[in-house]
Amino acid sequence: MKKNIIISTINPNIKDYILDNKKNYNLVFLHEFLPLISYINNNEVFLLIIDFEILFLVEKEITKRNFNLLLLVNEADVKSICVDCSYKHFFYILKPIDQTELKSKINIHIELLYMRDQISSFKFQNMIDDELTTKANIGAAIAKNSLEYFGDNDSIVHMNQALLNICGRTKEEILEIGLENLSFPDCHAEEAELFKKLKNNELSSYVITKKIIKPNGKIAIIKMHVDKILSILDELLYFCVILDISDIYSIEEALLESERSKAVLLSHLPGLAYRCNYDPEWTMKFVSDGCFELTGYHSHSLLNNRDLSFNDLIAPEYQELLKEEWKEILKNKSPFKYQYEIITASGKRKWVYELGEGIFNENNEIIALEGIIMDIASFKKLEKRLKQKIDYDSWTGLHNRNYLVNLISNDLLLTSYENKAIIGINISSFQTLTSIYGYHYSQSLIRVIVKSLKELENNNQKLFLVYENFLMFYLNGDIEKTTIQSLSFEIQKKLNLILNKELTGCGIGIFIFQKDCTSVERIFNNVLIAAETAACLDSISVNSVIFDISMKNAIIRQNEIKKIFTLISKVGNNEKELYLNYQPIVDLRTNKITGFEALARFKSAKYGQIPPLEFIPIIEKNRLIIPIGEMIINEALSFSVELNKKTNSSFTTAINISLIQILSDGFVDNLISKLKVKDLDPSLIILELTESAFSEDIQQINNVLIELRSKGIKIAIDDFGKGFSSLARESELSNDILKIDKSFIDKLLVIDHKKSIVSDIVSMTHKLGHRVIAEGVEDQIQKDYLIKHDCDEMQGFLLSKPLSKTGALEFTKNYNK
Ligand code: C2E
Ligand code: CA
Ligand code: CA
Repeated sequence: MKKNIIISTINPNIKDYILDNKKNYNLVFLHEFLPLISYINNNEVFLLIIDFEILFLVEKEITKRNFNLLLLVNEADVKSICVDCSYKHFFYILKPIDQTELKSKINIHIELLYMRDQISSFKFQNMIDDELTTKANIGAAIAKNSLEYFGDNDSIVHMNQALLNICGRTKEEILEIGLENLSFPDCHAEEAELFKKLKNNELSSYVITKKIIKPNGKIAIIKMHVDKILSILDELLYFCVILDISDIYSIEEALLESERSKAVLLSHLPGLAYRCNYDPEWTMKFVSDGCFELTGYHSHSLLNNRDLSFNDLIAPEYQELLKEEWKEILKNKSPFKYQYEIITASGKRKWVYELGEGIFNENNEIIALEGIIMDIASFKKLEKRLKQKIDYDSWTGLHNRNYLVNLISNDLLLTSYENKAIIGINISSFQTLTSIYGYHYSQSLIRVIVKSLKELENNNQKLFLVYENFLMFYLNGDIEKTTIQSLSFEIQKKLNLILNKELTGCGIGIFIFQKDCTSVERIFNNVLIAAETAACLDSISVNSVIFDISMKNAIIRQNEIKKIFTLISKVGNNEKELYLNYQPIVDLRTNKITGFEALARFKSAKYGQIPPLEFIPIIEKNRLIIPIGEMIINEALSFSVELNKKTNSSFTTAINISLIQILSDGFVDNLISKLKVKDLDPSLIILELTESAFSEDIQQINNVLIELRSKGIKIAIDDFGKGFSSLARESELSNDILKIDKSFIDKLLVIDHKKSIVSDIVSMTHKLGHRVIAEGVEDQIQKDYLIKHDCDEMQGFLLSKPLSKTGALEFTKNYNK
């Protein structure tokens, strides 16, 4: 639409001056007052060109409509325009008018005005009313030459729909309330300041984030961008874009918070959090502050390999390993976990544990590695200590079973079975020592033994404590049969030196690795079996035995027997598998039966008859002899009561007792109370103790023997002559009877009686005031010798084999007739 320019001047030529204007406007020439008023009131006027002198005629209309004025002024009037002119948009030209000047000035001004008008009300309006801005919810407003800051509603020329949407208000509401009043008052001062700077050309634009209150009470956070876009003829034009960032803001807040907490977390991490490139240097892109504490380098030293790369920190032997490991885990996108050593700024090695992962983009390309590296030095120390605990016996300082199992398993994996052997030392005989002298005594003895045996260690033979009472020498390397033999011999020598003093022995088992050796467990078992077999040979010396498969069965049988007796000791002898036989003893002077020796018998359904010489040592070793021995005592005492009642005589009953029984708590009191209950005369009871058992503390044993004898119970020293018996020792022990072992009596059949020392034993024992009983008499020759040399009593097959209870009763009736 063409704009109207009214020309109302007395200068008739003016029309010519501006005729060449080709713009889109109508030139309306109105010289008369009334038509001028009428035109103004009925038409849109873009510009009024008027003589200053007649301005007053239309003043009212002009202020009302507020249109652009071009005043043609005499020089004398210029002052008064400037003083009292209340028009908003005007400019002036001095008269007399120079035709060309007027022409160009009018044209320039028209042009400018046109432009201003175009810009402010048309182009921008179009732009900000764009569909896109509405859809994208980009609020926009245009304001003009404001005296106040942008919020002055008077100055707002245009607002788009999106702005109204954001504010939740209508155009009228905003104009009424004022845009600035929609926001929280705390933003006002800041915004006013910014606007002032913009106006004074100190700023070309500004951005402010402010909160506005919506009519529904909700708060929206808006970001407002204000730009000064034009300044035309003293008039400023501002362009303002408003974005509702409430959502972004809350996300941003949350992000900020999470960033903050992440930073807090990272700074408190006992290690280093990183993000690095997947390159040979592990180029760091992010390194947390924990870096310094961990490595002694500041995090910035590592960033982008500034001073050194992370790879430089890794101990050289791990560098390649780590690369391999990363390669492997990235292939499967699995987490990275690795323990390795780094070299800190001070040059020290430090154990670290790294947990990391690969970061991939949508094309599955590795874009970075992220993770944390922690100081595990203290864990490593603990681990070492734990490992030592697992692998070491703290008392002896020797490596233990666990360690040896691992060692042998590894050796068997790496090398063949050849050149390997184990010499096992069973020191379980110490159990008896423990029961006599206490735990500390036997433990110190183990230390003494270990110290001595360690002297035999070398690169090919090392000592281990495999079980509480079992040592092993593991031989591996350049060994021959002779090496094994000589080591076994040396061990024997050293042990003899120590154990002879203790009058105890131990078993040494040798196992030479064979082709089918795969299970360490089985190897150990074989060593145990051989050592056990050696220990069974005799209890007071050190014997060694090389494993052979038959031993296995023997040991299996031993374990079976142990099981059976354990059961009996717990549930009782209900099947009467355990019972007693009684062997008569005769007085060699009167030829009368003086009493019987009770001998234990065992008959199992599975194994048949098991001799006492087999099961007694087994149950002695396991201390089962205490409950089983008590059963035997009960049975023997009942026999004694019944025998003497039925025969109305005073036969003695001899009971074999193990040292462990004698030394067990309350043995004497227990026995005495049993005798009382049964109303048995203690002098009819003989306790037989094997002489070899006295290798222990004589004083302690004697104390018990003296107490027993003080109650009237008799003590017999059994098996005299077997092992290292001596009369000197016999004299030390508190006893009543000496039983000469069968081995001495046997010799009477083969050697010259003059050379026999049996007669000397008899006479010397008599000198000590003790009686003598000869055992195992099978031949009249022996009996004659004994009678001749004044032996008191005898027992043996010549008289009778051991008998059942009823057999024994019968025997007395017939014999003592
Ligand atoms: P011991 O105390 O020396 O018992 C004598 C052993 O010699 C008995 O063997 C007996 O049967 C056997 N014997 C007796 N006279 C003759 C003979 O003329 N010729 C031959 N060849 N043997 C004869 P047994 O019953 O086999 O007992 C062996 C050992 O077992 C006993 O030797 C004893 O040390 C132990 N023992 C037996 N019963 C018990 C028991 O109840 N408690 C304890 N602790 N040990 C027992
Ligand atoms: Ca006996
Ligand atoms: Ca005997």
